[in-house]
Amino acid sequence: MNKSVDLSTLADWDQTHVWHAFTQMAEYEPLLIERGEGATLIDVEGTRYLDGSASMWCNVHGHHHPRLDRAVREQLEKVAHSTNLGLSNPVTVQLAKRLTEVAPAGLEKVFFSDDGATAIEVALKMAFQFWRQTTPAQPSRERYLSIGEAYHGDTLGTIGVGGVARFGSIFGPLTFEAIRIPSPAVCRQPPGTTPDEACRASLSGLANILEQHHHEIAAVVMEPIVQAAGGILVHPPGFLRGMRELTQAHDVLLILDEVAMGFGRTGTLFACEQEDVSPDFLCLAKGLTGGYMPMAATLTTQRVWDAFLGTHAERRTFFHGHTYGGNPLAAAVALESLAVFEDERVLEAMQPSLARLSERMAEFVDHPHVTDVRGRGMMAAIELVESREGPVRYDPAEARGMRACLAARKHGVLLRPLGDVVVIMPPLCTTPAEIDQLCDAALAGIDEVCGR
Ligand SMILES: *Cc1c(COP(=O)(O)O)cnc(C)c1O
Repeated sequence: MNKSVDLSTLADWDQTHVWHAFTQMAEYEPLLIERGEGATLIDVEGTRYLDGSASMWCNVHGHHHPRLDRAVREQLEKVAHSTNLGLSNPVTVQLAKRLTEVAPAGLEKVFFSDDGATAIEVALKMAFQFWRQTTPAQPSRERYLSIGEAYHGDTLGTIGVGGVARFGSIFGPLTFEAIRIPSPAVCRQPPGTTPDEACRASLSGLANILEQHHHEIAAVVMEPIVQAAGGILVHPPGFLRGMRELTQAHDVLLILDEVAMGFGRTGTLFACEQEDVSPDFLCLAKGLTGGYMPMAATLTTQRVWDAFLGTHAERRTFFHGHTYGGNPLAAAVALESLAVFEDERVLEAMQPSLARLSERMAEFVDHPHVTDVRGRGMMAAIELVESREGPVRYDPAEARGMRACLAARKHGVLLRPLGDVVVIMPPLCTTPAEIDQLCDAALAGIDEVCGR
């Protein structure tokens, strides 16, 4: 950093010129991160914080990882970027091949873009165009079915299929309406509902809709196993499997959004492996490059690919692209991240940390201002309430979740809530001792802001 600019000037510029995502700028307090090491981030003054949100759920193996750093440097010696519109690059080709090897069977084709939202947009548009070009064509299939409280990104297309009211509702007039079924998550059902009941009720709702509307539905889009931004809504076992069976029975395409769950978050490389499901589209982003670079991929099948083949004059081409799609620097680090998963046996190595996280979560269950504790893999959520009787929710205007996370900062951790849900979602490399520090700080933050 250029030391001729002093820190208070930088903080001032940050408040004056940088419009931060999802942030009320009138209330924003600058915190400038300058360096990272493993699961730790270090600010411009040298204060260390554990990265409890994995830098928005994307960091996997830690910051400043020697192998990932080297992969970027080595690629930089060759070329930083060349387009994938009609051209290619060795490292991008190798990444595509590797993704088809690690993904569930049948996903053979890889379309690269930059972000989670674009990975979903690509799948939505491919599904739409597929039905116009497949034989026999079914052009009436032009709607989507999605799940209540789903989050698929912030572009106009993805908020159309999303359902987190606090993010998207103002833009309703600009978007298309998806058909929605309520989230099957047990924490969203009446008290006493078992996972099995929630699963069956939800699937029978879907079965009815598909029965009546399958000829108008291009695709079902969903986050498998856990709806992340909706509030870490964990689906009951069997739901994903059931969704796959019903979509197949009605020949509706299934788009799985693994932007948040992919790359080990739930304990398996992809969440859909847990129910042995292979979708028609698999959307990947956040963890794809280990959290180093913006890159996304939409994987699909031979069947979808074939519907787009023909001569240029037939106009069956997928007319869609992003300038930096398949970027070689990002591809190099993504390829190395997958190699690290393998060489360091990351999914096995993280087991002690997962065990510690679920052990520590048990301590929150009896807190007088906690109504629910849930999670899966390297991901935990603590839902705050004013009173457990009812439960009585806090007035959202009080921003208790955000205040609890800010209070936790004083204990050396960075956390980001989802409304009144405090979320712990650190890099997969987080050690059991670091898990302890994250949980201690979250508890201290909650106590400070909600009392005991
Ligand atoms: C973050 C996220 C997205 C959007 O990804 P961006 O890279 O922010 O566009 C889409 N789906 C899910 C499940 C996500 O968590």
